[in-house]
Amino acid sequence: MLSRLRAVPPWVVFLGFGVAAIVAYRLAPLLGVSELARNVLYWTLDASAVVVLLLGVRLYRPNTRWPWWLLAIGQLSALFADITFYGASLIDVTLPYPSVADLLYLLQYPLAGAALFLLIRRRTPGWDLPSLIDASIVAVAAGLLSWVYLISPGASGGGLSTAGVLATAAYPVGDLVLLSVGARLMLGAGSRPPAFGFLAAGFALVLVPDTLYTWQIFAGTYTEGGWLETLWMGSWILLGAAGLHPSMRELSEKSAVAAPDAGFGRMLLLASASLLAPATLLVQYLRQAPLHVPLVAVVCAVLFLLVLARMGQLVAAQRRVAITDGLTGLRTRRYFEEALSALAERAMSGPGLAVLLLDVDRFKSVNDTYGHHGGDRVLCEISRRLTEAVRPGDLVARYGGEEFAVLLPSVTPREARLVADRVHQAIRRTPIAVNSTTGATVTASVGVATLPVDAPDPESLMMLADQLLYTAKEGGRDRVAVGASLAAVPATEPEPELVRRAS
Ligand code: GH3
Ligand code: MG
Ligand code: MG
Repeated sequence: MLSRLRAVPPWVVFLGFGVAAIVAYRLAPLLGVSELARNVLYWTLDASAVVVLLLGVRLYRPNTRWPWWLLAIGQLSALFADITFYGASLIDVTLPYPSVADLLYLLQYPLAGAALFLLIRRRTPGWDLPSLIDASIVAVAAGLLSWVYLISPGASGGGLSTAGVLATAAYPVGDLVLLSVGARLMLGAGSRPPAFGFLAAGFALVLVPDTLYTWQIFAGTYTEGGWLETLWMGSWILLGAAGLHPSMRELSEKSAVAAPDAGFGRMLLLASASLLAPATLLVQYLRQAPLHVPLVAVVCAVLFLLVLARMGQLVAAQRRVAITDGLTGLRTRRYFEEALSALAERAMSGPGLAVLLLDVDRFKSVNDTYGHHGGDRVLCEISRRLTEAVRPGDLVARYGGEEFAVLLPSVTPREARLVADRVHQAIRRTPIAVNSTTGATVTASVGVATLPVDAPDPESLMMLADQLLYTAKEGGRDRVAVGASLAAVPATEPEPELVRRAS
């Protein structure tokens, strides 16, 4: 029995303890338990969350401890606040508003916000701009709601001192900060193990009683020990479970992908958030309540710009995918052809341009000997060597399976010949690693033609380069075949510096 109990994971034990504590807290008034005992139970759960957060760090040793320590300090701050707030009420002392309890409650926000921020930095060390924009859209929309329904009524609320007004406003502002950082965590890339779910649920849950509390304070309907306390207890349990779940280690691990997909759910969320601003205006108008027209106008404009920025971002990402070859990272054939027709016109009047068409020799046998994966490694290495061998500003593209094309703008016949020879040599000079132990010597055949001398337009230029490539193959492979414009230029042993300077 005991050994079976020991097999229960700590986080399950804590969840069980937490649920039992909530049930006991709810039942206490019905069972005639004293207020003191009930409050002690509340503080115990409060403190237990601090303990398990620290325990989790000790047990699982995440790559960064600070987020969890900050959460634990925040929870400790809540514990002291709760002892002050409910303790004062137990001994019939009326606390001023705001009191030291409020200060301690408010301290939780920057601490928790910093904890989440640190986790985000670990998960996505870069900016992850798309997620940042998405989170901003959610935050701006939530900020408007918070202002119209919580902050602004609170600030104008009856008979509060300046400090009271500030404190009343500080709670929803704190929640807003938490919501913004939380939204960035939720919408950003990174693994989502169970601990992530607990953490997200814990923070989502805490926003509910926080918001209701502000509301009830305005309405004068807040009473201690009701549902709000129950919800706060629930949020601590979830937070503690996050820290005590073994997967808490993964929360601070670097994300494998740069940015998450813009899926349907995300688009729906962003659309709903963006529509909140005009919807708020309409609701306020129908209720004949304050319209906040200047603020709503600014918020609408900001949301509009954020959505536009996000769209621009998506279009740019799509374009990047469309013009990039998946295996080699080179430009695609389509991009090459677009660039060629754009540059062809200029080449008619000024210095000519050249095209190299390159096909790997007997590549089928590379695949047959070393497998498709070995073949892929050869293609990637050839792409790297090509990119190194051309001049800055030349365009290297994957033209087909094992065919590559290079576009040389503003080039003399001599330079074109030099680059073609250098490309040819770069591939054959040293064996290419096809696996961790074997190198394969690979050669390529190259066809070179220039515009406007060899061919008058892009189509015939490509056809000619293809014919020349075929000539090189026919001639025995592993060679460069050139058009009439380059025929007079002798084949050269490439001189890298010379060509680089010429460009
Ligand atoms: P040749 O000297 O006449 O060019 O001989 P070859 O064997 O290279 O002939 P061919 O051009 O017909 O064969 C190209 C081969 O390249 C066929 C195809 O399986 C292979 N191939 C095409 N794309 C890829 C790829 O992305 N990865 C790998 N590993 N192989 C590819
Ligand atoms: Mg081939
Ligand atoms: Mg081929």
